[in-house]
Amino acid sequence: MPQFDYDLITIGAGSGGVRASRLAGGYGARSAVVEADRVGGTCVLRGCIPKKLLVYGVHYAAQFEDAANYGWTVESATHNWAALIRNKNTELDRLHGIYLTILKNNKVALHEGRGVLVDPHTVEVNGKRITGANILIAVGGWPSLPKVPGIEHAITSNEALELPKRPQRIAIVGGGYIAVEFAGIFEGLGSEVTLIVRSSLLRGFDADISAALATEFGKRHVAIKSGVEISSIAKQGEALTLTFSNGDKMTVDCVLYATGRHANTKNLGLEAAGVKTKENGAIMVDEWQRTSVPHIYAVGDVTDKLQLTPVAIAEGRAVSETLFNNNPIKADRENVPTAVFSTPPISTVGLTEVEARAKYGKLDVYESRFKPLIHTLSGRDERTYMKIVVESKTDKVVGCHMMGADSPEIIQGLAIALKCGATKAQFDATVGIHPSAAEEFVTMRTKRAEPEAKAAE
Ligand code: NDP
Repeated sequence: MPQFDYDLITIGAGSGGVRASRLAGGYGARSAVVEADRVGGTCVLRGCIPKKLLVYGVHYAAQFEDAANYGWTVESATHNWAALIRNKNTELDRLHGIYLTILKNNKVALHEGRGVLVDPHTVEVNGKRITGANILIAVGGWPSLPKVPGIEHAITSNEALELPKRPQRIAIVGGGYIAVEFAGIFEGLGSEVTLIVRSSLLRGFDADISAALATEFGKRHVAIKSGVEISSIAKQGEALTLTFSNGDKMTVDCVLYATGRHANTKNLGLEAAGVKTKENGAIMVDEWQRTSVPHIYAVGDVTDKLQLTPVAIAEGRAVSETLFNNNPIKADRENVPTAVFSTPPISTVGLTEVEARAKYGKLDVYESRFKPLIHTLSGRDERTYMKIVVESKTDKVVGCHMMGADSPEIIQGLAIALKCGATKAQFDATVGIHPSAAEEFVTMRTKRAEPEAKAAE
């Protein structure tokens, strides 16, 4: 008789957990996954996928406008928010079904209910105890809300994806991924959007990219209120009155907080199992995703590293390859590309200029700002911004940044180049695709003046 019910029990059936448990099952391990909600996790059910479907839906508004100068007459286009939400949910149901099939096909036992660790090898689900030789914690994260009087009137991205009606006036708190993505969604459909940013827009991204987005937001009537925080929220009838730290007031129909996400580790039984967490509740792991208990692993947002779906998937894969396929691998976090599906979108790989300067000292920086060809005819006042950061000494490209249409599709390819250690000379030796925006990345020839050279002018 085996000592444990399973070789691997995964708590949380999101992107990282499903990848680990289904690979484990596929390699012949006795694999189980425990899930309190529907299988799919944040990305599929209340993150990347539904958000991107809404972003696609919104793009039509601008395309209808832009079509006029291309000879089209698009009359009385109206938008039905409820239909978009309904159809998006139908697609999520389909994806949920695919995930269930994947688990079934890989012989992964699904235990529905909240999983709680009762000791280092035992998980309790709905009063039933199951044991595992290894345990993987992949319970993800949840939106964090600051303690502000009236915060109960605020929504998070979870509710924003399910709103029965689109709010006409919406305040969005935060300047990160989620805030700027929802700003684009609501503004694109005609809502009056105010972004409330306590420090800077997209802090941590290259400063030129953040500035380029702020300029485009200005053209699109997304108001940015920066350097302030909300000190209280009061509800009067259907409206919400926001009072700011500087005494200003504002009335809106909805306030959405996108102020970061915290690890879902409360009441998970981590203490009973001896799993250590950081001060913010995130689980501490080593480079093999091992927690302070060697046979308990953690992947994805619960570890508070890079909160990105493909990273969680890479981590989940690494755990199962290592444990069940005699193929010890670690998730590689070098040059992870990322995208913000704002309007226009942003995508980036490698280091920002500031990070590269701190690491390498002297840099060659190339940049390009232009009106995309499509808008020479459409008349839309939207510009694309691109930047390449190169280490002077080696000529190695260490960062590529773009704001503009299709930037996620373009940067994904450049991420391979950076992974291969491409030099600027190799970028230059690559023939462009004409006419495209992407070709700018292989045709930038003029170095931007270095800061000290600029100062001497
Ligand atoms: P982020 O960490 O990206 O941004 C949080 C924002 O909220 C920052 O601007 C921060 O300001 C601000 N903030 C934090 N606390 C407060 C507060 N008390 N009052 C006012 N503002 C505050 O978090 P998000 O919630 O946008 O997203 C969470 C994570 O999810 C992201 O980091 C990303 O990894 C992932 N994600 C990825 C997406 C993608 O790949 N496209 C899409 C959506 C999410 P400050 O800068 O001053 O700290």
